[in-house]
Amino acid sequence: MLIDGHLDLAYNALIGRDLTLDLESLRAGDPVQGQTATTTFSELRAAGARVCFGTLFAAPRTPDSPGGYTDPAGARAQALAQLDVYRRWEDDGFIRLLRSGTEVTAHLADTGAPLGVVLLMEGADPVRDADDLPFWVDAGVRLIGPAWGGTRYAGGTGAPGPLTDAGRALVTAMRDLGIALDASHLDDAAFREAARIGPRMIASHSNSRALVSGHRHLSDEMARAIADQDGVIGLVFLSQFIKEGAETGATLDELAAHACHYAELIGWDRVAIGSDMDGGFGAEKTPVGIGRYAELPRFLDGLPGEHRSGVAGENWLRWLRAYL
Ligand SMILES: [Zn+2]
Repeated sequence: MLIDGHLDLAYNALIGRDLTLDLESLRAGDPVQGQTATTTFSELRAAGARVCFGTLFAAPRTPDSPGGYTDPAGARAQALAQLDVYRRWEDDGFIRLLRSGTEVTAHLADTGAPLGVVLLMEGADPVRDADDLPFWVDAGVRLIGPAWGGTRYAGGTGAPGPLTDAGRALVTAMRDLGIALDASHLDDAAFREAARIGPRMIASHSNSRALVSGHRHLSDEMARAIADQDGVIGLVFLSQFIKEGAETGATLDELAAHACHYAELIGWDRVAIGSDMDGGFGAEKTPVGIGRYAELPRFLDGLPGEHRSGVAGENWLRWLRAYL
């Protein structure tokens, strides 16, 4: 049983990938250039994935993403379109949206069920303001990462800074409504402020800064703060986040080193998977030996035997049952 803490499934659908195909068919007609597709629902099933955190990820306008949003309304429109993708997949039987620990337990007891998806918003710009949070909670969103790059709520990857006034209000509202904060992408200054406000915290997809430099990765101090909140950290399967200076070709041993570092710091029961291996970065950038999602469980073979099932899914499951 595998639980993946971070997959941008609807984002991939809206850039033209049909994840309901088998992977060979998707690759044969893939409209995305330069990033070889890795993931479809059949691949997830073959890997034993029963649940994932599926993102609502609004992409801001950048040179690489000219169609991205330039204002809050544009961000909101992207997230709503992705929400609609998940709902249509649920209507068509490809996924089941999960909103509570009770639903997760019932879902896992049903061995014939499709992939369970917990909605996670990556980058909070689609949220109008703190008063808009209940709308997204009603829609099923259970975790929010305030930042991706910088947002109007928080400093993020490549855009250092603290929480803004709106960010403080949002994180406070998240705490009060029991919506977990995803610390991945949050800049250090924003992280420290958010931790003081005290929402439930996890990191859906973050490797360790002890092994790869830069604010995209968690410092030991951040990992400890997440552990203090009974949080769990998902490991990312992107070569450049695994090995310093590597664009491609990181090894599974090098990824296991991140798992071991976290385990020494905060315990094996806080180490999990947040692969981000949805195709947004292609097979070119995944670790050696994992060219498609069905091969992801190979990573577990390099971990101590008694901790494999925890990292594979039991650690996220414990968190989901306690806090979703
Ligand atoms: Zn991300």
